[in-house]
Order: sequence, then structure tokens, then C-alpha cells
Amino acid sequence: MDLKPYKLLNRIQHYAWGAKNQDAYIPALLGKKTEPDKPYAELWIGTHPNASSTLFADGENHLLQDWISRNPDAILGQDVSRRFGGQLPFLLKVLSAGEVLSIQAHPDKMQAEQLHKRDPEHYPDDNHKPEIAIALDALTALVGFKSSEDLVDTLNQYPEILDFIGADQAQNFISKPDENLKQLFSTMMSRSLSFPDQLQDAINRLANRLSVSSNQTEADSLFLQLRNIYKEPDIGLFTLFILNLIHLNPGEGIFLKAGIPHAYVKGNIVECMANSDNVVRAGLTPKFKDIETLTRILTYEQGVPEIYKILDKSVETHYQPPVSEFQLQRLDIEKDRSVEIRMETGIQILLMIEGAVQIQRNSDESINYKKGDSILLPAGLKQYTIKSEESARIFIAEPGIS
Ligand SMILES: [Zn+2]
Repeated sequence: MDLKPYKLLNRIQHYAWGAKNQDAYIPALLGKKTEPDKPYAELWIGTHPNASSTLFADGENHLLQDWISRNPDAILGQDVSRRFGGQLPFLLKVLSAGEVLSIQAHPDKMQAEQLHKRDPEHYPDDNHKPEIAIALDALTALVGFKSSEDLVDTLNQYPEILDFIGADQAQNFISKPDENLKQLFSTMMSRSLSFPDQLQDAINRLANRLSVSSNQTEADSLFLQLRNIYKEPDIGLFTLFILNLIHLNPGEGIFLKAGIPHAYVKGNIVECMANSDNVVRAGLTPKFKDIETLTRILTYEQGVPEIYKILDKSVETHYQPPVSEFQLQRLDIEKDRSVEIRMETGIQILLMIEGAVQIQRNSDESINYKKGDSILLPAGLKQYTIKSEESARIFIAEPGIS
């Protein structure tokens, strides 16, 4: 097998919340025509069977995992191949949210194994799905429960939500918020299933009040906007008030470990995760909601998880979350520069966000790549050089440190 860079061909997922028309980032990145009114939600780069990447070699197309399986030690690297049973441990995505995604959380490894065994239709993978999201432009997201202080304020400022939860439960929470978040959230979720009419009524009352309010918060206007999309009583419309609404600048990232509720609201991101598609949904979705599982797997930690900041003008930005499956770096290279990359953990996948480069291994031939290309670099290359022909922005995904 020739150890050289291979260009990958990747699949697009057209989920309904994906960005459309002139907002569609993914076809613009790939230099493809945008079909009118078609949503372009996610580009999947990896081996996941729902939408595997392929590569062309020896005169034919191969599924990426088939290609890796021919020589896992040379492609993944010996250590990675041993640690992950010959499988690529991560899935890299470009995600482009035109509308808010469902509010969700992901199971940890043990929970994922149990869920998959019990309900393989809704939980297709037995793997956990820690994920990192890095903003390509401005990203708005709902992430993690608010602090106790903020939650008490929220219940006082939104009597419609308090009434729906029930005065007793709400008072329990207000008097001892640090101990009663799980109870508060579980009550809210289970009542949404038992009393959909009361939920609809509470949503209508809040909408009527907010629509004539002269000082709407950002969450208020998000609620009003989403209520026009979710006509059925959806508890997600209330959940958005009890999570933190955050904004990331380009290059900033956030790591979501198991059990943290979250929803991307708007923006384009590069996302990397363990190779899994396990999602437990809580609201803002017409899809299957598994509220019993959700309330059980959440960690009920409060506050905003740590945000990865970027240093101005640095060529390399590293994102190293505490997982063994993946880490990322972002390279910002000016025109006519060259950068040596050492492959320290094994296989790498490059994603070109901007610009044009040449990649050269050893001293022999160099290959040209441009914006939108994604490239597999087998571990056996050990090192290579990137030469920028135009200023370039590149993400590199690779396995984490064991
Ligand atoms: Zn997620």
C-alpha cells in the first residue's frame, strides 16, 4: 500500500434544520451548486455506516473502513489500531444550522451499551458520543443548565413556566435549588407528556405576554420564533429558558461530554466526536423523545462548560478535550508559508476551510488541495509539509492521547 495522502469523498445529510439557499454553507464550502430550498445540514467525514466517506485508490472506490482494514497499522497507526480495534475512532463533521436543532444529550459509554441493547432502533450505536464544536462564524447555542441563581430568577420572571411545573415543586426548587434541579427538570419533562393541553395553554400565555413586551430578551425572541415552527406542545420551548444561551466567536470551541443538555441554534461549525450517532432528544423536534432516558442520563451540572479561546494571530490552535478518541487543531497559514506537521498520535484527517495548499511528503511529489477538500493522511507517513499557495485555514483531526 502506498503511504500517501488520499482525498476523501463525503456525504451530506439533508436534515430539515440545515441551512438553505444563500445561507447554505456546506455546498459553498464544497464549490457545489445549491439546490433551491433544500436543507444542507451536515457533512460527515469518517467511517460511520450511516454516511461513510469513500476514497479512490487502485482504480476503484472504497468505503473508508474497508480501506483502513486492509492495513490498519499503517493507516491508523499501531497504537490507535490496537486501542480502537482497527476502527477510526472519530467522526469529523461540518454542521450548518439554519434553524435550531433538537435539545439533546448523549449517553456515556456504559449507558450507550445498555441503550443499544435495549432499543437498537433508537440507539443505533453502542458507543458514547462526546463532541467538540468549533465555530466557523458566529455560533449561538443552548448549553448546560443555568446556575441556581439564574434558574430561580427565571422561575420568578416566567410565572407561566412556574405554573406549569406546579407551585409546590417550584417552591421546593426555589428554597433549595442546589439539591432539586433533577426533580424540577424531571417534573417539567414528565408533565409535558401527561398534560400536553396544559403545556399548550402555558406556551400560549407566555407567547401572548412576550409578543407585546417592549423589552424582549434574546431567549424571548427565540421562544417566539420557535413557537411558530413547533405548533404541537413541545417542552423544548420551555427548556430553552433553563439552559444557558451562549455565543461563540469564530475559532472558539466548546466540548460537550456525556449528560450535558445542548442544542445548536444558529451558525456553522466544525464538529468532532467519537464515532457514534447516539442522541437522546428532549424537545424542539418531531422525532422520538425519550424523556425517561434523558432525565436519567443527565449529569445536572450547572453553568457553561469551559470555552476554548483562540489566541490572536497564532498559526496553530489546539483543542484537546479529555477523551482518547479525538483532538483537533486549527491552522491559519499566511500565503507562501510552509508548515511541518509531525503525526504524533497516528492517522490524521485534514479539512480545508479556506485557501489552497500543496501537501508534500518526504522530498518527492506534492499534491494540490483547495477549499472544501478533505484528506486522509495515513499514520505511516509520520510527517509532511503543508505549503500555502493562498492564505489557508485548515482543521486537522487526529486521535487523542491515550
Ligand atoms: Zn450533540
